[in-house]
Amino acid sequence: MSLGEFDLIKQYFNKKNSDVEKALVAIGIGDDCAILDIPNGYQLAVTTDSLVSGVHFFEDVDPYRLGYKSLAVNLSDLAAMGAEPKWVSLAITLPDVNEQWLSEFSRGFFDLAKQHQVTLVGGDTTKGPLSITVSAKGLVKRGCALLRNGAKPGDLICVSGTLGDGAVGLAQQLESLSLINAVHFTDALEITEPRNQLGCLLVDHASACIDISDGLIQDLQHILSASQCSAKINTEKLPLSTQLRHEIDSHCISLAQAQRYALTGGDDYELLFSIDPQQYSSLCTLTNSGQNMITDITVIGEVMSGKCASVHLFENNQRIDATLGGWDHFK
Ligand code: ADP
Ligand code: MG
Repeated sequence: MSLGEFDLIKQYFNKKNSDVEKALVAIGIGDDCAILDIPNGYQLAVTTDSLVSGVHFFEDVDPYRLGYKSLAVNLSDLAAMGAEPKWVSLAITLPDVNEQWLSEFSRGFFDLAKQHQVTLVGGDTTKGPLSITVSAKGLVKRGCALLRNGAKPGDLICVSGTLGDGAVGLAQQLESLSLINAVHFTDALEITEPRNQLGCLLVDHASACIDISDGLIQDLQHILSASQCSAKINTEKLPLSTQLRHEIDSHCISLAQAQRYALTGGDDYELLFSIDPQQYSSLCTLTNSGQNMITDITVIGEVMSGKCASVHLFENNQRIDATLGGWDHFK
């Protein structure tokens, strides 16, 4: 006999919380609302992201990875604001009760929740076409959240990790590319690592921040229009993974194509931030000092004056004009 709604919640979502710290949860799953304790001096950061079958993921995607990613993309939004993740709610619409699928989905979800000490405090379970909506909540010291509007001319533009692998992973599935490191790119697309530790650290250093979900250029433009600035990006500085460089060296992907993935591909979920050069030095000291080994950070450009939020691309100090065909990767 198939499981009813309430047993399903108990079995796959409530019970799995048990080994996560439940501090700051006065009332969790089981009542009409969750009741959460917000410590004095903090503000609540709230974000919601939906993943819809056929739009955000392939219907036959590994359910473990889907559970993991549905939480990861939300935690990434909290990272971008410098908020520490605490609570999450999950609204899930299922076409039917497939216990093996649910078991894997919840295992992926809770593996990441445990890593970040996030408690699932409620949600909704309905029947219909597969879709997942997660809302994550975090804490940030009052007035300290990282916003998009603080970039200033002269600030450095930095990214965490490497760029383009998620987009290669997607292209691989859509265009059947044949690559040497195929598994790595699929993993990059499906097992996103949200940069929450870095995000919390950036609160005291960065002037503006965003997570890259829609491609570097587009997400940078969000910072630039909020901050009324423009920017210069040095394309030769874009951090590419060793796996992507290997594909380039082996002529499986051209350098131009790899840079296009890095500049315009989504799904990297790295942090993109602006930072005053002096603050950058103190951030480097912190991130290099053993206990704070977080993730690589690369300076890829600089914020410039100019209120029109333009992104000027350079390659080895030569301006590339995207509109005149010098930069034909966009065609
Ligand atoms: P209500 O009808 O009052 O909205 P529900 O019957 O939908 O409550 O849900 C019962 C309890 O289970 C609530 O506390 C709700 O937050 C929680 N819940 C429902 N679905 C999920 C889920 N997928 N994950 C976690 N908690 C859930
Ligand atoms: Mg109710």
